[in-house]
Parts: sequence; C-alpha cells; structure tokens
Amino acid sequence: MPGLLEGKSALVLGVANKWSLAYAVAEAYRREGARLVLTYQGERQRETVETIGAELGAARVLACDVSSDAELAALRTALEPDGRLDAVMHSIAFANREDLTRPFIETSRAGYLLAQDVSAYSLVAVSRTVAPLMSAGGSIATLSYLGAVRVVPNYNVMGVAKAALEAVVRYLASELGPQGVRVNAVSAGPVKTASARAIGGFSSILDRVAERAPLRRNTDPAEVADAAVFLASDLSRGVTGNVLYVDSGFSIMAL
Ligand code: NAP
Repeated sequence: MPGLLEGKSALVLGVANKWSLAYAVAEAYRREGARLVLTYQGERQRETVETIGAELGAARVLACDVSSDAELAALRTALEPDGRLDAVMHSIAFANREDLTRPFIETSRAGYLLAQDVSAYSLVAVSRTVAPLMSAGGSIATLSYLGAVRVVPNYNVMGVAKAALEAVVRYLASELGPQGVRVNAVSAGPVKTASARAIGGFSSILDRVAERAPLRRNTDPAEVADAAVFLASDLSRGVTGNVLYVDSGFSIMAL
C-alpha cells in the first residue's frame, strides 16, 4: 500500500536529538514515503542532526537558525533547486530558563521578546520562506501546547508565545489559503524532551496528566507524529487554521 506522503517533499525544522518531537515527525513522514529535508540550528548541532538525517534517510540536512533572516534566505536558496515543497513541520521554541521557573510577573522585556521571536514570529518568517516553493499547494504545521489557552504553572512566557503562535496559524491560514497552502497546529500533551526539562516542575505535570486525562496516560511522540502525517497528507485537505489536540484528552477536563 502506498504511504500517505508518497511523492511529497517535506521539510522538518527542530530536530535536536532522538527525543525531539520533530524526530518522531520526521520518522513518520519517512515511513509514509516523503522525501525529507531536516534543518539544525548552528554548528554545535550539525554533526548530531547529520547523523540523525543519515539514519532517517533524509535527502538533505541544512542549517537554519530561525531568528536569522540571512539563514532563512539561505535556506530558501538551498531548497529552490529541489523544486516543489509540499509539507513543513515547524517544531521550534525557546525561552530563557529563568523565565520558566520564576513568577511570570518577573519576565524581562528581553526574555519576553526572545520567546516571541523564536517561538511565534519564526512561524511567520518560515512561512514566508517556504510558501513560494509550495507551487502545488501544501501544508505548514507547528507544535503548540495547552499553556496557550490555560494557565500551566511555570509555562509563563512560553504560554504567551504559544497564544501568539496559535493566532499566527490563523492569520497565515487566512492569507495562504487562496494559494492552496494550509496552516495548522498540533497541541501536544507534555512529553519529556530537552525543551520540556527547562520548565519548572515538569515531572509533576506529567503525573497530573496520567492521572486526569480521559485516556489515563501521557502522550506518546508517535501520536503527535501521526497527527502531523494527517496534516501533511491529502486526508486533511479541508483543514486549515486549526489547533488539533493530541493530548490523551487532558484539555477537555475542568477538574
Ligand atoms: P526540543 O527537542 O528541544 O526541540 C526544540 C527545537 O527548537 C530544538 O531542535 C532547538 O534547537 C530548536 N530551536 C530553538 N531555537 C532555535 C532557533 N533560533 N533556530 C532554529 N531552531 C531552534 O523539544 P520539543 O519538546 O521537541 O519541542 C518542539 C516543539 O514542540 C516546540 O515548539 C515545543 O514548544 C513544542 N511542544 C513540546 C511539548 C513537550 O511537552 N515537549 C508539548 C507541546 C508542544 P537546539 O536544540 O539546537 O537549540
């Protein structure tokens, strides 16, 4: 049976290591037959992501710090010879560790702007970079979290950035829809990754979800990846501007 992404070309930004949600997404895209391009941020990560790319059978591994307009322009130039691009996964966020452990009211102006730049504005910049390559339409997806719409202890400045990210998804979906480009977010339940470890008290969040979520367990990265496959595939051709929760149902609970 042909894969759901057979004949499609996909770009995944945000693989740092095998625990990254982007890794699970890249693996699932490949399983479904997509041609894969990965990006890494900075020389420090190059070797690791090149090794991961080789294991996953990625066609190319390119540099891209999403806070640099020059690197985004270079990414576009590097992708152009490949021809059409069909799917993009933006799996990127950053905030200073101190802003994820101290009271929200203590957030500095610089820390606030940094979180917004890397975690929300970058989806605007990435979309502007890739949309012209989506000559047959396409799918742009990002990863959000419940902290965008509810207060999660210590998520703080990142919750505000995710709220912006979800609004960015809607504005981009509205503008890119006429050219057949869909833009959506997956709101994933908490998963222990390098970024998640920076959030104060993260382990207790995992315990709470396993106890309260309708499915009584935490989110498996493979579940997030399969939802990403759906959004990248033609099965979701009528879906844009949405936030799809893949969180064992935790977000529906009031108590
Ligand atoms: P992760 O493995 O640490 O991934 C975060 C990625 O963002 C890393 O690859 C990191 O690269 C990259 N990044 C940060 N700043 C960047 C920049 N300026 N340019 C390019 N890349 C940059 O953690 P993750 O949990 O998989 O996070 C992926 C996404 O899922 C994030 O948007 C996160 O908010 C979201 N999410 C996570 C959870 C969770 O519980 N884990 C739940 C819901 C949503 P470096 O490592 O090289 O800095």
